[in-house]
Amino acid sequence: MKSFFITLLLLISFGCKKEITSPEEKTATTKKHEFAIIIHGGAGTILKKNLSDEKEAAYKAKLEEAIKVGHTILKNGGTSQEAVIKTIQVMEESPLFNAGKGAVFTHEETNELDASFMDGKTLNAGAVAGVTNVKSPIELAVKIMTDSDHVMLSGKGASIFAEEKGLEIVDPSYFYTERRFQSLQKIKNKNKTALDHDDKKASFYDADIKNAKFGTVGCVALDKSGNIAAGTSTGGMTNKRWGRIGDAPIIGSGTYANNLTCGVSSTGWGEYFIRSQVAYDISAQMEYQNKSLKEATTDVIQNKLTKLGGTGGVIALDKNGNMSFEFNTAGMYRASMNDEDQLIVKIYKE
Ligand code: ASP
Repeated sequence: MKSFFITLLLLISFGCKKEITSPEEKTATTKKHEFAIIIHGGAGTILKKNLSDEKEAAYKAKLEEAIKVGHTILKNGGTSQEAVIKTIQVMEESPLFNAGKGAVFTHEETNELDASFMDGKTLNAGAVAGVTNVKSPIELAVKIMTDSDHVMLSGKGASIFAEEKGLEIVDPSYFYTERRFQSLQKIKNKNKTALDHDDKKASFYDADIKNAKFGTVGCVALDKSGNIAAGTSTGGMTNKRWGRIGDAPIIGSGTYANNLTCGVSSTGWGEYFIRSQVAYDISAQMEYQNKSLKEATTDVIQNKLTKLGGTGGVIALDKNGNMSFEFNTAGMYRASMNDEDQLIVKIYKE
């Protein structure tokens, strides 16, 4: 009888122990890294055969340069907010990415920029849509958060606000790149063909867009104080018109941060990301279903977004420094770095 009770006790304690040390539980409760940073430079049909060695090296070098800027800030005890702004600015200034200089063109051959930022500690956020002359849309998004009573400003009003706050204003031609201009011409010609064929099913963004490279930039950082910040900046989608706005400036779709769960920045076909509330859904699954970061990002991208027909991906970072790159496209320009100086820079699916 005595040995029966001992066995029973052992079985019960083994059962409890097993639960506490299960891998999921471990990732959910153990602080892995004191600080960490993760970035993307857009997702899409990025195939090795379409990218020359030089181009590939250029992308990797710029991703590394950008993430090291944020990493140094975090390592020196700076805030996640500062790390996100400065890291994104490196990519906004590079013509390689669809953000700031190098942004894609609208149907009217202009560049209209969107960006957003969220602070995981206070749940404060700022966003801007459709600005044409502000050099750093991510800086403006943060300014809207810190210096206005609003979360989102758009168009001319946003430019006036930026000017009043002393942000750098540029001539719209600053954003021009020949490569993006030519991409617009190609897509315009294809749309014409679709019309010629009177394809009633062809949406404004025809099938080619589905396979296009996107190129938005985003960053999520966790600082030594445990604060998570996330930001996203983009030119949107090539050939957009009628003042179309994507997911990038929508808090909960393109960007989300909450110190209790995670920070997320999205890239992909914005209409689907808005309808799926991608960034908030990941945080909500962690908060309400106790999922790990990996489980939540996998479900939202590979299951829910994919079923809806959306393409793209996210970068996400949780309060313990766990990181996740999740995408359903052929590639995503991406990088991460943690407090052990481990650097990952990747482009294709691996
Ligand atoms: N999500 C962006 C948009 O729809 C595009 C991108 O990520 O490249 O505007």
